[in-house]
Order: sequence, then C-alpha cells, then structure tokens
Amino acid sequence: MKYNSGGLINSLMILSIAGFMVLTFTLLAVFTNAFYENLDNFSSSLEIRYSKNAKIEAKDKVDKVVDFIGIYEKILQNDTKQTVKDNVEFAYNVISEVDKQYWDLPVSITYQKIKDKLGNSRFFDDKSGYFFIYDMKGNCILSPIAPKSEGKNQINLQDSNKKYIIRRMIKIVKTQNEGFLSWFWCRPGEKIMKEKLGYVKLYKPLGIFVGTARYKEDILDEIKQNVTLYLKNLDKDEYGYIFAYDFSENSMLESSKYKKINRWDDAANGYHLVRYAIKGAQRDSNGFFLHYNLKSGEEKLSYIKSIPNFNWIIGTNIQNIKAVYTKEKESLQKSMSVTLKNSILISIAILALFVLVFLLISFKIKKLFKELGDAIKDRTKELIEQKNVFKKIFDTAPDGIALSKDKRFYDCNGAVLRIFEAKSKEEFLQLENKDYFPLEQEDGSNSMVFLESKLDIGKQKGSVDFEIEAKTINGRKIWLNVVITKIILHGEEAGYFVLRDMTDKKRIEKDLQIQQQKLIFQAKHDSLTSLPNRLFLADRLSQSINRAKRKERYLAVAFLDIDNFKMVNDAFGHNMGDLLLIEIASVLKSLIRVTDIVSRVSGDEFVLVMDDLASINDSSTIIQKIIDRFQEPFYIENLPFSITFSIGISVYPNDSDDEQNLLKFADMAMYRAKNCGKNRYLYYDESMNSDVLKHMEIEQEIKRGIKNDEFVLHYQPQFEVGSKKIVGFEALVRWQHPKLGLKFPDYFIEIAENSRAIVALGEVISKKAMKQVSLWHDKGLKPGTMSINFTSKQLQDRDFFDRLGKLLKESGCKAEWIEAELIERYVMRDTQETSNLLKCFKDMGVQVAIDDFGTGYSSLGYLKYLEISKLKIDKVFIDDLQSNKKDRAIAKSIIDLSVGMDLKVIAEGVENAEQYEILEKLGCQIIQGYYFSKPISADEAESLLREKREEKQPLPR
Ligand code: C2E
Ligand code: MG
Ligand code: MG
Repeated sequence: MKYNSGGLINSLMILSIAGFMVLTFTLLAVFTNAFYENLDNFSSSLEIRYSKNAKIEAKDKVDKVVDFIGIYEKILQNDTKQTVKDNVEFAYNVISEVDKQYWDLPVSITYQKIKDKLGNSRFFDDKSGYFFIYDMKGNCILSPIAPKSEGKNQINLQDSNKKYIIRRMIKIVKTQNEGFLSWFWCRPGEKIMKEKLGYVKLYKPLGIFVGTARYKEDILDEIKQNVTLYLKNLDKDEYGYIFAYDFSENSMLESSKYKKINRWDDAANGYHLVRYAIKGAQRDSNGFFLHYNLKSGEEKLSYIKSIPNFNWIIGTNIQNIKAVYTKEKESLQKSMSVTLKNSILISIAILALFVLVFLLISFKIKKLFKELGDAIKDRTKELIEQKNVFKKIFDTAPDGIALSKDKRFYDCNGAVLRIFEAKSKEEFLQLENKDYFPLEQEDGSNSMVFLESKLDIGKQKGSVDFEIEAKTINGRKIWLNVVITKIILHGEEAGYFVLRDMTDKKRIEKDLQIQQQKLIFQAKHDSLTSLPNRLFLADRLSQSINRAKRKERYLAVAFLDIDNFKMVNDAFGHNMGDLLLIEIASVLKSLIRVTDIVSRVSGDEFVLVMDDLASINDSSTIIQKIIDRFQEPFYIENLPFSITFSIGISVYPNDSDDEQNLLKFADMAMYRAKNCGKNRYLYYDESMNSDVLKHMEIEQEIKRGIKNDEFVLHYQPQFEVGSKKIVGFEALVRWQHPKLGLKFPDYFIEIAENSRAIVALGEVISKKAMKQVSLWHDKGLKPGTMSINFTSKQLQDRDFFDRLGKLLKESGCKAEWIEAELIERYVMRDTQETSNLLKCFKDMGVQVAIDDFGTGYSSLGYLKYLEISKLKIDKVFIDDLQSNKKDRAIAKSIIDLSVGMDLKVIAEGVENAEQYEILEKLGCQIIQGYYFSKPISADEAESLLREKREEKQPLPR
C-alpha cells in the first residue's frame, strides 16, 4: 500500500486555515453587531438613569433648602422675640435705676424722670421700636407715639378684634410678672390691621409695667431678608441654580433684570411659566416637577416647592439631561469603539499566530507521517519475516499446536500428529473430541464433562491450563498438558491449543509418588517388622489419648521386652534373631484389635497400645492372651524357641494423661518385671517410681564408677582340705564409692547385671583379676587358680570370648590360671546354648566351676553333658551343716557326685572348725570361708601368700 501523505496533509492544512479564518471573521462580525446593539440598549438605559438621577438630585436640592429655611426662620423668630424681651429688660433696668435714684421724691417726679430717659428711645433695625408704661390700673404713664394718652386711663383699650389690650397686659404681669402677648393694630396712616407681638414686665416697687411691641410683618420681612441673603450666599457648586418668587411673582433672587419685577404676565410661547410655578406649588405643598420649553425651543424641567409662611416658591432647574447623556454616550461609544478595534486587532493577531503554529505543527505532522510510513513499510517487512519464522516454529515446534473453532480443530502442526500418532493432518482433523479421549479419566470422572468444564473456564478467563488423559488414534493412552488461549482470528473467536505429551513425566511422577509414600512409610515404620516405630507411636498414642478423653474410656500402654533375646542373637546369629522378631511382630499384630497399636521401639522391645477399654481388666485379658499364645514354642527354620516377655503396663487416665509419661511408666513397670525375674507382667504403681529411679540412678553411678576406676577386687583364698595349702583365690568385687564408702556386690551387682553395665564392669574385674594372678605368678607366689564370677548377661555378649582371649593376652595371664564361676541356674539350663558356651571355655583352656551348686533345682542328668571341672557347694548347705542332717546329706551327695564324675568340689562359706571337719570327713577337697580368711585386699593376699610360702604351715585359727 502506498501512502501519499504529503498532498493529503497540504489539503488538510489549507482547509483548516481557511475554515479557521472564516470562523474567526464570522465570530468577529457577530460580536461587533452584538456590541453595537448592546451599546444602544446601554445608552437608553443610561438616559433613563440620568433623568431619574437629575430629578432626584433637583428634588433633594430644593427639599434641603426648604428644610433649612424652615429651621432658619424658627431661629430668627426666636432671635426677634429675644430682642423684644431684651429691650423691655433694658427699660426695666432704667426704671429701677431711676426709682432708686429718686426714691425720696414724689412718684410723679420719678415718672417724669423715667419718661425723660425712655421717652425718646427708638430701637429695632427699622427704629420702629418704643417703650410704653402703665400702672396696674391702666393709667398710661408713657406712650411716645400717642403722648395724648399719657395720664389717661386706658384700661378699656381694645384692638381691632375687640380684645382688651391693657387688661390682658395687667393680667400677665399680675400672674407671671412678665410675658409675651399679641394684638392687632393699624400702622399710623394705614387702614389694614397688622398683628403685633408685645412683651411686658412689672416693676413692682412703683406698681407699673413697661412694655414694647413689634409688627410681626416686620419680623417676617427681616427674616425674609436674611433668608434671601442666605440663598444668595448658597454655594453655587453644591446647590446649582436656585430661583425664588413670592406669590405675587416677584423674583426674590434673580438677576437685576428681573429683580423685584413682577413676572405674573411673563409668558414664553404663550406659557406663563412663573404663574404656573406658583399655582402648582400652592396646589401641591410637597413640591412638583414642571416641564416647559424656552423661547429657543430648549426643553426644560424644574422642581418647585412652596414656603407657605413666606408666601414664596423656591425651585431649581434640572440640567439639560439629553445634552449630558448624549455627551456621555458619545464618549462611551468612542471608548468602546477603541476597545472593539483593539479586540479585532488582537483576534487577528491571535489568528495569525494560530495559523503560524498550525503551519508549524502541520509540517511536523507531515514529517511524522513520512516517518510513520517508512516505519510501517519496515514493520510490514518484519512482519512478513516473522510470519515465516512463526510458520516454521509452528510446523517444527516440539509442542503440539492446534487451532479450533466451534469445538473442532481446523489446523495443527506436526507435533500434534506425532502425539496422536496420526499419519496426516487430514486424518487428524476429521476426528472428533470423543476420538481423542477415553470415556473416563484416571480418577473416574467423565472425560467429556471434564473437558467441557475446562473449556468453560478458558472462555471466561481467556486461558486455561490443565492435564488430561487422552488417547492416540491407535488407542494408546497418553497424558497431555493442555494450554488453551482464547484468540480472535479474522474477527472470529478461536481456540489456540498448546499440547504437551506428559506421559513419561506422569509415569516418573507416579514412581516418585510411590517412592515418597514408601519413604514416608519407612520414616514411620520399623524396617524389619513394618510395625510403627517409636516416632509414629508417639503420634498415634497422643491421638488415641485424645480419643479416650473424648469417649471417656481407658487406654493401656504395655512395654514388652523379650526375655533373653540377646542369647538368640549370640547363639544363632542375627539373621535368626531377625526372623524371630518378624515372627513375634506378626503374632503380636494378629493378637490385637484393629484400633490397637503395636510398635517396635528398639531391638527386642515392643509397645502395645490398647485403645478404647471399658475397664483396666480388659488390658490384662489382652496381655494374658499374648502370654498364652507365646507359651507354645516358636519354630524358625525348624528350631524351637520359647519366648517370654517382661511386660510393664501403664493406664490412662489412672497413671497419666500424657503420652510420654505413659510410655515412661510402662517402661518402669517393665524394668521392675525384669528385675523380678522376667516372664511376667506388672502394672505400674507409684512405688515403682522411687525403686526404679533408684536403680536407674545406681546404674548411672556404676557407669561413672567404671570410668573413675572406683571398683576394686578383694580376694578370698581357697584352701586344700588336709594340707590347708592355698590352691586359689576367688576375686570378689567391691565398690569404693566416693560418697557411700565401700559397697558390697549385693548393692550393685544385680543392677549392673540387669543393664548393659555388667559387660563393662565384668571386663574391668576380669582384667584386674588376671593382672593380679599374673603378677603373683611372676613373683613366684604360686597363688593357684583365680576364680572369676561371670553373669549370664556377660556370657550372652557375642564378643565375650574374643574379649576374654584378648584380656588374657594383654595381662599375660595363662588360661589355666583362671577359673570361671558360673551360677547353677544359668549353666544347668537344658539348652544347646550353655553347652556351646562351656565348650568355648574348654577350648580356651579355662576351667569352669558351677557356683551356688544345689540351689538351682536343676536336672542332674544334664550335668554329664557339660564341660565343667568343679562344683561349688552353696553356703546355704554349709551354714547348718553341724546341726542339719539334710544339709549334711546334700553336701555329701554333691561331694560324692563330684568324685563320681571326676569333678573337683569346693565348699564356700565355711566359718568354723566343725564345718571344716565335717566337710573333710565327707571328702570335700577345697574349702573357702571365713574360717580361713575373709575376702582380703590384694596386698593382704600377697602377704598371706608370702607367709604361707615361708612358713609352709597351715594357717592357725
Ligand atoms: P559368690 O560367688 O557365691 O561369692 C561368695 C560370697 O560368699 C562372697 O560374698 C563371700 O564374701 C561370701 N563368703 C565367703 N565365705 C563366707 C563365710 O564364711 N561366711 C559368710 N557369711 N560369707 C562368706 P560377696 O563378696 O558379698 O559376694 C556376693 C556375691 O556377689 C557373689 O556370690 C557373686 O555372686 C557376686 N560377686 C562378687 N564378686 C563378683 C564379681 O567380681 N563378678 C560377678 N559377676 N559377681 C560377683
Ligand atoms: Mg562366686
Ligand atoms: Mg557362691
């Protein structure tokens, strides 16, 4: 596609500029028109406002002057009255002075003196003022303008209104001493009566009163003159032009041309202006506006108001409004025209600027378009290249890519064909959904329903990612990872599928899962018996406790320890031991309920959790069932094994509600069962706590003692009967306890034997005994054989003989120098194990003596099969030898048995001569006991040996 952007942009530019210009000029024309229209409206409103304001101003002006005149008149009236009063006061003072001066003269002379002083007095501005004096009877004393009246009684003098003048005066002075009064009187030579204002004051000493009076007309005239003066002096600037006429149309203020000229008949264009003004003002006392035209034709408006007291009108002309507002309008038009002109100029300047900017932008856009065109060309090229690349990727992608519309694939790449084992695209594309998927998924869900649900999600969210089991054209099941993305292709909705074959990955995942499950199982189970291990037990036990708590039931924990299991391992090897454990585990499992747990917690220890018990007895029933089952011997590889357990039991909630405590308590009870001779079960009780703890403590102490070399050996010599020569020693262990002092074997040997400590302790003992006997031999002390006690636990140790051989070697001790003392209970058991054991001693060259013989209730028949060299008659038979016939018989039997079987015989615990003698008689060969010597220290033993060697004498007792 080719873009002719230059021409297009040019045309657009020209069109835009022309458009803008037309728009601007149109707007300007509209604006100018509206401007002038507004100006006219504004002018007329201005005219109205002007005329209204001028009227208000004129009225205000006139009202102000009239108001002022009213106030001014009042002030002048008062002034005049005061002047009248002041004059009377003056006359009064004169009378008083005269009276005081001439008090001693007759009244008539005083009157004359007064008349002399006051008779010629004339006052007021127009000199119309004079004084009159009367006595209280109405006799005239002074009357300057009517001297004839003087000396006459004028009490009945009346004014033109028939009112008594002198009587009213007498009444005033009598009542008020002084006061104003008025009456009507004619001026000399005039016929019209005018009102006079008079003032009288009584001079009491002479009983006369003096007074004066003035025509009110004169007062008003004087006031008018003052007002006229005031009006003339008004500030012209403030009040403008003011005119005043009396009601007779005499101008009161105007220029000399009209001054005091009656203008009643003055008429302009037949219009009696002044006359109308006066009439109007008389008619309307509030004032009124008068329109008229001058001769020149000029229109005028005046405001006029009357001053009734003065019989005047007063007014003012309103300025030539039209002229004012026309002038105002012209200046407004002028200034607005300038504004308009400026606005148009600014608009044109803005337009020009706009066109300039527009041109600049247009050039920039043109440039941009060109660049865009180039870029589009490059991009198109790139897109074509990309399309080719994408096509290649599409075709060769390792993931299957397919496009779908209306739930059908309409295109796909080669990978899709490979995945579905299709020979061609056509073959694949003709398939329907049901052909790609099995009926059901691995989890049993319907494939179509599953797919539909995923497609719905994809539609809503735009994309969806899931795994599905599919099938190839050949029906092979495969696992696919499917990513569907909703796209728009050619304006229509389509599905973009990416399919990845996950079959191998799935298989590996499954293998891994199995492996993982196996590992989890292994982590929780014992590998040999597949029983839950200690870890898993704790877990399950706490669940069981919670359940028991909820259901308010009992729960018992049993600790089962296989008695003497070590011997099986040592005698038959570990493989046999393992087989036996597996068998025991499976039997235990078969004996418990499904809800119970049996766990292997260590080599020969099992824990049984008995769940959901109604009573504690239920647990003993189960345990008894187990014991009963194990009564029968086990056959492993045709060999019979009889298994017994030491069992300790703890019970929830009686003993504890904590799983660790329950396990600990069951373990303690088991420990106790073991100590009590094994093959039994014991319920935990609190007393065990202290016992077992004590034992455990001693066990720990023993271990510490071995480390600190606290164990020492004492040696009890053995003598030959008859010669009383020392033929050997028995090594007897003692514990030099740092806190408790010297402790004997009864304190610790059994505890050591019940734990592994006996092995280490036994080794220490053997080593010390061997070293000692070697030393004595080396010293040529001929100690005979050194008897060393061995416990069954020591012998059960697999390495026992190896260790023994090694010790002999290390200590330089010959095998024949030592003798093993084994207790009858252990040796005389009818087992292959013991005969094997004795054979080993023999093979090594070590002799074996059966210790504590006679106490083990063993079958004597068995004795002939055993590789032993000596029987040691137990002390219990020696103790009462002298008194007890039966003991003597037993001792004799044992001696005879030994002789008969070519065995040596030794009696232990011989304490006195009687016992010795009896034994000697019975044919006993060797004697050991306090009678000859207690167990003694190595040094003491050595001294004894030396003593014996030198003396060659039997020991004295
Ligand atoms: P045993 O092997 O039967 O030892 C003989 C015990 O009888 C010793 O007691 C000894 O002192 C005591 N005895 C010997 N003659 C007389 C006597 O005339 N009158 C009395 N009343 N007692 C006499 P001891 O040393 O207390 O040992 C007790 C047991 O401890 C031993 O019985 C043995 O079974 C065990 N034992 C002692 N030392 C060792 C040892 O080193 N290893 C092992 N495994 N056991 C030992
Ligand atoms: Mg002994
Ligand atoms: Mg003994």
